[in-house]
Amino acid sequence: MCGIFGYTGTGRAPEIVLEGLKRLEYRGYDSFGIAVPGTPVQVIKKQGRISDAGQCTYSLHGTVAIGHTRWATHGVPSDVNAHPHQDCTGKIAVVHNGIIENYAVLKRELMGRGHVFTSETDTEVIAHLLEESYNGDLLGAVETILPRLEGSYALLVIAEGDRRIIAARQHSPLVIGIGDGAMFAASDMTPVLEHTRRMIVLEDGDVASLTPDTLEIFNGGNPRKRDEEIVQWSVEDVRKGGFPHFMIKEIFEQPDVFSAAIRALRSEELPTRLLNAGQVVLVACGTSYHAALVFKYLLEEQCRIPARVEYASEFRYFTPPIEGLVIGITQSGETADTLMALRMAALHNCSTLAITNVMGSSVSRIADHTILMHAGPEISVAATKSFIAELAVFLHLIDAIREGGCAARLDHAHRAIDEALLLDLSSAVKCCIPAQDIFFVGRGPYYPIALEGALKMKEISYIHAEGYAAGEIKHGPFALLSEATPVVALCPPGDTYGVMVSNIREMKARGTPLIILGEGGDRDLEEIADVFIPLPGADSVAGLLSATVILQLLAYHTADALGRDIDKPRNLAKSVTVE
Ligand code: GLU
Repeated sequence: MCGIFGYTGTGRAPEIVLEGLKRLEYRGYDSFGIAVPGTPVQVIKKQGRISDAGQCTYSLHGTVAIGHTRWATHGVPSDVNAHPHQDCTGKIAVVHNGIIENYAVLKRELMGRGHVFTSETDTEVIAHLLEESYNGDLLGAVETILPRLEGSYALLVIAEGDRRIIAARQHSPLVIGIGDGAMFAASDMTPVLEHTRRMIVLEDGDVASLTPDTLEIFNGGNPRKRDEEIVQWSVEDVRKGGFPHFMIKEIFEQPDVFSAAIRALRSEELPTRLLNAGQVVLVACGTSYHAALVFKYLLEEQCRIPARVEYASEFRYFTPPIEGLVIGITQSGETADTLMALRMAALHNCSTLAITNVMGSSVSRIADHTILMHAGPEISVAATKSFIAELAVFLHLIDAIREGGCAARLDHAHRAIDEALLLDLSSAVKCCIPAQDIFFVGRGPYYPIALEGALKMKEISYIHAEGYAAGEIKHGPFALLSEATPVVALCPPGDTYGVMVSNIREMKARGTPLIILGEGGDRDLEEIADVFIPLPGADSVAGLLSATVILQLLAYHTADALGRDIDKPRNLAKSVTVE
């Protein structure tokens, strides 16, 4: 959610920072801005997309710059509310990701002392506080004011005539890239990878001072050493590589992602004994929540281990009686609700396990154990390959608990994903394009797959879509079914097949167009369906993966036909770093 990028070196900083901000666009934003520390500090900032602003940095010059893409929390998206923000003298500029929770009190205080505010943001108080404590020592000024800030922040600060960037973090991600005669600071690694793979992840309470050749880190006023990591992701991983959108590139990466996740896990020591230690609670949001639900079904059915799944945002405030293991699942490792839920679990003396895609992310510092899902950078806002990687982790955990037999089953799954990518979905897409509402239904572990299919559809096509446990449709949603309301039904062979077919027939009787995913060659389903899609691997757990891929593609092609902004859907952000 929002992005920060700073550079100090010998190159043309405004252009380097603008390019960096473009790499952060995927996180979601509504406005952007850049500042350079000339005399005076120069700032450009605008509402809207970077690509619509043309060569907006032409008036800025220098070898140091900080930039920001804003996802408004306090104050409407506008030129004035865009970051960077400045103090009354214009000598200081600040970019900020997060929320200053006590900003209203601070603002009243500062206004009482004569400060004039130009924006509605919470961030601006930081610039005015710095104005009061700055006397030429920018690092000292930042360290002085930080204890006054409550809430979350990743900050970059510059001052007139100073070549340093001061960075600080508290509950918001911030990484430092170490280049050759250059330093970078960014909300995540993606814009830094263009320049260097040497990264340091700052910790809460850290304040860093960056010059082109030096990096000093302090915490609580004391110097700190932080480990440097060499990141394995490549620049190509964060480029589109010939695909029209990141989303479709990431969908097509899924067979490799699935295998890579499994390969990496084979060599890792998995904390499976924890899973056997009583009840398992899974906390997650969005797509990860759906993956957790699949895991719950499989863990209970195949390992007889009781599991419950909670929205992280609810769990934090309405913590149920818990003991045993709490697993937090977050692609970015920075999802604020999931981090808070795991902190809560630790307070209740539970063991905690994190499943994340980002090495060194905040969640891995909070949890007792971390499993990396190895999906590579996911740029499209709509999560796809991270879901498949999460399922890979879960399938592997289940096989580890059951002690083996996984290889064949996982190969089968890999093939099913491959085959799903080759299917022709044009008739199903045609059925969805004119719809105002679409229902997705399934039973058992296919129910969360239906939820995930509906989520994909609504977030990128903007068609209202709902996922339902098929048996629940009769308890209300039936009232909405008509010739204009397609239903996508997941109908694999197995225990629920018969009852699913009855459910589908009931829907058919209401004139509902039916898109059915079932085992290839199933004559009954072919006959009932308006569009029948053969589900690769339908007779095993592999069907869950291929059904996921099919529903991702259905959403993608529908959104594409409707001309939507697929990688950056309106109002959405990639990693939700505020509660
Ligand atoms: N709370 C700040 C604002 O509304 C920062 C939002 C962000 O993280 O982009 O301006």
